Amino acid sequence: MVLADLGRRINGAISDITKSDVVDENAINLMLKEICNALLEADVNFRLVAKLRERIKTQISSQENITGGNKKRLIQKTVFDELVALVDCQTEAYKPKKHQTNVIMFVGLQGAGKTTTCTKLATYYQRRGYKTGMVCADTFRAGAFDQLKQNATKAKIPFFGSYTETDPVKVAKSGVDKFRKEKFEIIIVDTSGRHRQEQDLFDEMVQIGNAVNPNQTIMVLDGAIGQAAEAQSKAFKEAADFGSIILTKMDGHAKGGGAISAVAATNTPIVFIGTGEHITDFETFSPKSFISKLLG
Ligand code: GDP
Repeated sequence: MVLADLGRRINGAISDITKSDVVDENAINLMLKEICNALLEADVNFRLVAKLRERIKTQISSQENITGGNKKRLIQKTVFDELVALVDCQTEAYKPKKHQTNVIMFVGLQGAGKTTTCTKLATYYQRRGYKTGMVCADTFRAGAFDQLKQNATKAKIPFFGSYTETDPVKVAKSGVDKFRKEKFEIIIVDTSGRHRQEQDLFDEMVQIGNAVNPNQTIMVLDGAIGQAAEAQSKAFKEAADFGSIILTKMDGHAKGGGAISAVAATNTPIVFIGTGEHITDFETFSPKSFISKLLG
């Protein structure tokens, strides 16, 4: 089930109970069953769904003295709060600081949307007055530098890369050193991906990380990959210890639930979501506004 339908189904379940004359345990169970089925169909991890169900039940039953319209409001609020908790790991992501160099390294599998997202993030900071540059440390995929160069040129963002150097660690270091010397405030390093999680990719990420010493490592995760998101993000977390996540392809047709589960699996905050191929299809992520929007 895609995200847009997930919101509609959850809303439907809440609306049924708020319209019903009797709000007893049976009605609450029916509502919870519908909400949980919808979450599972959107690929949210079953353990998280079971936990959400229990927490909602416990909270509603602990307030036995609340009845009538107040009970309906309590149910609405509890469901909302628990959906927010599902995407909120309560951990603050690194926030770049003005007048100093902030190195941001991107990691993720090939095709996740890393290069596109690097340009989106660079544009985001450039528009907010940060002196921003991009470094292409992907020497693995032919054409990677050309793609970054094209994107950066279009967005008018200074970039660094090499057509001749094959060692990604050297390119990353040269680019970051150059931009550091020139007092850039945001330096975004795009690393290479592979089609699968492979040891040599992880080794390369660790070496680049050691060479450029990032203030923030961001994992780019394809919002459409479903249940695979959990294992993938755990493997990357072990290797690269990223501090935040950007979910891409969260446009209307994504299931998204698998990627949302990655937050809990790695206890890492989502900082932005990509909602299309265009450079401005990019939103800051806040758990409350995401759930408000999902529920329309
Ligand atoms: P990389 O291999 O991880 O660097 O991935 P790319 O940046 O080359 O992106 C792979 C494909 O995903 C491209 O066709 C992008 O246009 C597309 N893409 C990236 N982000 C989004 C997004 O948020 N929404 C959609 N619909 N497509 C995206």
